[in-house]
Amino acid sequence: MKLFNLHTHTLYSDGKAKPEDFVKEAIRQNFDVLGFSEHAPVPMENGFAIEEKQLGDYSREIAQLKEKYRESIEIYTSFEFDYIPGITQDFSVYASQCHIDYAIGSVHLVKNGSGNHLWFIDGPRVETYDAGLKNTFGGNIKKAVKAYYQQINEMINTQDFQIIGHLDKIKMHNKGRYFETGEPWYQDLLNESLALIREKNIIVEVNTRGIYKRRSDSLFPGIDVLEKIREMKIPITISSDAHKPADLSAYFAETIKILKNLGFQSVKCFRKDQWTERAL
Ligand SMILES: [Zn+2]
Ligand SMILES: [Zn+2]
Repeated sequence: MKLFNLHTHTLYSDGKAKPEDFVKEAIRQNFDVLGFSEHAPVPMENGFAIEEKQLGDYSREIAQLKEKYRESIEIYTSFEFDYIPGITQDFSVYASQCHIDYAIGSVHLVKNGSGNHLWFIDGPRVETYDAGLKNTFGGNIKKAVKAYYQQINEMINTQDFQIIGHLDKIKMHNKGRYFETGEPWYQDLLNESLALIREKNIIVEVNTRGIYKRRSDSLFPGIDVLEKIREMKIPITISSDAHKPADLSAYFAETIKILKNLGFQSVKCFRKDQWTERAL
């Protein structure tokens, strides 16, 4: 399969290299499509999202690269949007401001009703996950995981985006300590979200980052979830959520093999300004 990646972060958000370095590496790896998806601004102190004042530079720089490298690769502008009810802007605000080509919707920060604390489920440290679970949800894992999937459902119901990012990342720092993903209550939550994803025709991203960063022993989503996704005929795409050029196709070869073994025949790619099927 000709490789591509629609989920990448540069120095504009929490990535570690300039956009052009990603383009050069993508061309070196013979990619035909590369999308930049900085974390869209969130209205709070944080160390991961692009700042509002950088949005103009971001759009301009990616547009220039698109032009400069048009003979070698297709380049697209996107955002990975956070959805936090009552806190984040409607996705359409920054989408139209930066004329993005497609959008990724993700939940990294989980809200407990009207409470002020947010549970940060991502990042390198398991201690952050544990502390957030305690501070935001009093350690009630069922309530916390339910809030995570409900936030995803609300995002699907209220926001305009095409790809759902790392769907079951909530399991990453759990590592079988608080719950097992096979438990019925967890399966019910997952099934509810998958039904909604199917209904709204959202593409599920198969995200390799947890594995190559050695934070997770499985893909997002995991094999059992991918089996359901195939049965439900939900479209998928493959990404590495790269934060540096060297990660652009990390664990892709293995993932393609896994997807083929599961019976998937193609993934969705954004090509010539539209969603197309690409045979695995
Ligand atoms: Zn993310
Ligand atoms: Zn990301």
